Amino acid sequence: VSGHVRERVDKYFEEVVRRNAGEPEFHQAVAEVFESLTVVLERHPNYADGALIERLCEPERQIIFRVPWTDDNGNVHVNRGFRVQYNSVLGPYKGGLRFHPSVNLGIVKFLGFEQIFKNALTGLPIGGGKGGSDFDPKGRSDAEIMRFCQSFMTELHRHIGEYTDVPAGDIGVGGREIGYLFGQYKRLTNSYESGVLTGKGLTWGGSQVRKEATGYGAAYFVAEMLKTAGTSMDGKRVVVSGSGNVAIYAIEKVHQLGGTVVACSDSAGYIVDERGIDLELLKEIKEVRRGRICDYVDTVPSAKYVAGGSIWDVPCEVAIPSATQNELDEKGALTLVENGVRVVAEGANMPTTPEALRVLRSAGVAFAPGKAANAGGVATSALEMQQNASRDSWHFDYTDERLSKIMSDIHGRCVATAEEYGKPGDYVLGANIGGFVKVADAMLGMGV
Ligand code: GLU
Repeated sequence: VSGHVRERVDKYFEEVVRRNAGEPEFHQAVAEVFESLTVVLERHPNYADGALIERLCEPERQIIFRVPWTDDNGNVHVNRGFRVQYNSVLGPYKGGLRFHPSVNLGIVKFLGFEQIFKNALTGLPIGGGKGGSDFDPKGRSDAEIMRFCQSFMTELHRHIGEYTDVPAGDIGVGGREIGYLFGQYKRLTNSYESGVLTGKGLTWGGSQVRKEATGYGAAYFVAEMLKTAGTSMDGKRVVVSGSGNVAIYAIEKVHQLGGTVVACSDSAGYIVDERGIDLELLKEIKEVRRGRICDYVDTVPSAKYVAGGSIWDVPCEVAIPSATQNELDEKGALTLVENGVRVVAEGANMPTTPEALRVLRSAGVAFAPGKAANAGGVATSALEMQQNASRDSWHFDYTDERLSKIMSDIHGRCVATAEEYGKPGDYVLGANIGGFVKVADAMLGMGV
């Protein structure tokens, strides 16, 4: 039976590659899920009925649109906008928008595909989707960002809605962009539909802890992993790559839980501060000045800035890659292992290459995939939707408690599922199967 199922899964995969040529990140995301599927299909062959696997891999709807906008000098630019509405079996499509020059259909599909299982794992009623644009916000003025967001929403608004599709932020899209997007949606539709976007400002329908949620959630997840391994965050030496929204709040929560983050990075290089990253300074540089982390050493001369290079050269017990896809490669993983890393948890989406994952696995490092470890962001978005639907707003501590509980539930589900399928400690398998089973049951229930 086993060989037969493996063969079928391999055939599905070949078909995915054939139908989605030139989309390596999407293939990578599908391959990782498919690897976990073999054991499920062996036990429950009915999950392959009615072309369920094929239906799961094909987005329900893919929207590609033109986004023309005018810069401050009066020049007109054209970017490409995307929204992939992947799977709505558990709720309205839910997932972020990414503005980055690397964005293309394959990237959006990989992120949307991951989002299906991540969102299912949260236990909240949200489907999976993702969107964005190849627009590069770097160096753009506030007015240019506003005009871009308005143009983007001028097309997107007809495809989304509180019960249809609820976008949020991702790389390059934070509170400012969500504000411009929401303003334009409200103008175009003449309705104050708070639940159409999440990550809103606190005075106009946003939720406490949403901004912090992905990073906080990743730190909570790491704390659970450490607890399972018989230890705690206390005194741990931690490296967090990136210095965006995920990284900043992962650092904040790691510090609150007693660990010390000694390094973080941006696309130009990384900083090492042996005393622990000064978070107020980092926030000032990144959130207020929208600057580069090399500026950190101007204020803290005892810290070190390394231009280029790999942040994974910095020895640590816990690594939380929180920058972008495939940032942790085989070489980085080998160095981490050599330096005694015990836990790796993905703050970003798919930051670990398959080769790096193999290295970490064979070294016995506890590894949490993004669909589990970074699910706190989208989970808190679902809490924002709850608050919007009931025209309520919750306090910070209450929302943070909810987030912490959701992360420990996800952790528990991963651990229990991995055990159930005979691979104790395998968080990748636990997350993939935990998410898949929920989605698959609902798809079977609703028919073709
Ligand atoms: N972009 C985040 C993620 O990758 C959050 C999505 C959301 O809140 O909808 O999960």
